[in-house]
Amino acid sequence: MRVIGLIVLLGLAWLWGWADGLREAKLVWRGAPLELSPPPLWDGRELWLPVVHLERLGLTLEVHAHAVRLPHIPADQPSAYVPVEAKREHLSIPLRDLVRRLGGYTRWDEATQTLSASARLHELRLEFPLLHLKTSLPVAWRAFALENPTRLVIDLLGCVLPEVPIPLPEPSGTISAVRIGQYDPHTVRIVLETHAPHATPDSGVHNEWQVALAPLTPVVETTPANSPESASAASTPLPEPFRLPTLRRNAQGAVQLTLPIPEGARPRVQFLENPLRVAIDVPGYLPEAIEQLVDDPSLFVRAMRAVPQDGGLVRLVLELARSLSVQVLPGTTSLTVNLRLPRNAGGKLSQKVIVIDPGHGGTQAGARWREGNTVIEEKTIVLAISKHIAELLAREGATVILTRAEDKTLGLYERTALANSAGAHFFISIHCDSNPRPNSASGTTIYYHRDDADSRALGQAILNEIVKVSGLPSRGVRSDTTLYQNGLAVLRTSQMPAVLIEVGFINHAKDRAKLVDPAFQKRVAEAIVRGLKAHVEGR
Ligand SMILES: [Zn+2]
Repeated sequence: MRVIGLIVLLGLAWLWGWADGLREAKLVWRGAPLELSPPPLWDGRELWLPVVHLERLGLTLEVHAHAVRLPHIPADQPSAYVPVEAKREHLSIPLRDLVRRLGGYTRWDEATQTLSASARLHELRLEFPLLHLKTSLPVAWRAFALENPTRLVIDLLGCVLPEVPIPLPEPSGTISAVRIGQYDPHTVRIVLETHAPHATPDSGVHNEWQVALAPLTPVVETTPANSPESASAASTPLPEPFRLPTLRRNAQGAVQLTLPIPEGARPRVQFLENPLRVAIDVPGYLPEAIEQLVDDPSLFVRAMRAVPQDGGLVRLVLELARSLSVQVLPGTTSLTVNLRLPRNAGGKLSQKVIVIDPGHGGTQAGARWREGNTVIEEKTIVLAISKHIAELLAREGATVILTRAEDKTLGLYERTALANSAGAHFFISIHCDSNPRPNSASGTTIYYHRDDADSRALGQAILNEIVKVSGLPSRGVRSDTTLYQNGLAVLRTSQMPAVLIEVGFINHAKDRAKLVDPAFQKRVAEAIVRGLKAHVEGR
């Protein structure tokens, strides 16, 4: 009865337009209007932005079930979490609140129903030849030269000046004056007057970056050789170009490298598949890409590359010879990378005990999709894939334990208790993904617990093989804390390296067609076993 009442209410809300007091609104971000679907909703005081759009705003924030975590505030403080709410069925974040907490500024325009969000400029520092900039939110910036007099202009789009003026840097190097102003309501303009032309246009999106001033073009001497000005211009040293680091093997069998980094720099680290590699972005100067092949197999790395990036960054890419446990440890002025054989890797696959865990079962169907009279259930698909894996692993001579071999209900803790008491080397849980919006997300995701580098390596090895045969996009190997603050129970309570594979989305037509196809199920199972073998035996 109550259900019918709700349906009538929803029907009336539909007829009269939404009766929830929310209006569709527009968003101007980094000085440009964004096309967003589903649209943000204005409740009279706050703009509710569906969390699916956060990535488009360039905000890499952890989205948990009930809140979004702000990375610059320690996790144990309540202010580190902005609560999210469902608005018209979309998990949404109060954007004004978020921007304010990130140190930005918002303005609502009633006439156009538009919220403009801007960053504030926090810092402008000149350490010739580097100009350091810091804004409260990522801004789009562009640098270009103007003549008569020669000056370099840097525009920060979607940025406003701070309420309290920031100190302007003293002229130095070839820079003879620094000016700053609000060029238009969305743009802060920085003008550097210079003795030398800096003609190379450059751009990027950052909230902390450096622009290299001198190396853009060589200094052109226009003044007589004996003037003090030309002496200073000629003696201005170019910054040291980025050099590839040296790989060293330590007594414990780990391979280590260190990179110098400017004080306070926070390098970005990415783990990528196909081929397996680690990419680290650090501030630096590099005129052109460099590469070095490594022939010593004991160093775990097949090749090292450095590639110049926008905004005065250099990307160091380590192409790995096998799946590795990788730790990146930033210090004050240097960054250390440790590479080692992951826990329980090494030896032969036939010597390993592997627990395969088909998700859900029995009364717990997992994700479901109804099509006419047929219901497609996650528990059935993952059982079929898991049985293939078990059979293939047994054929390899490995010891396999299936947490369930039939359609039965099984608790999360029973699954890991089984693996822990068997002293298994690896725990692999098989699932299908689903999200609130059909046909919006597609592809394979592999989760590991928290920051466990051994499990991440296992996930990378498996994903590396899945993406070769699945025809589905890779959504990467991710920490389970990006889903829930405490991670996933089966990963948290496993004592051995453990991963949870979300093979594809049951509520995406393309993924679903594959997931129910027995040939696809077999192909994915084979890829998972190949990944495991590569992880254990190397290649
Ligand atoms: Zn599941």
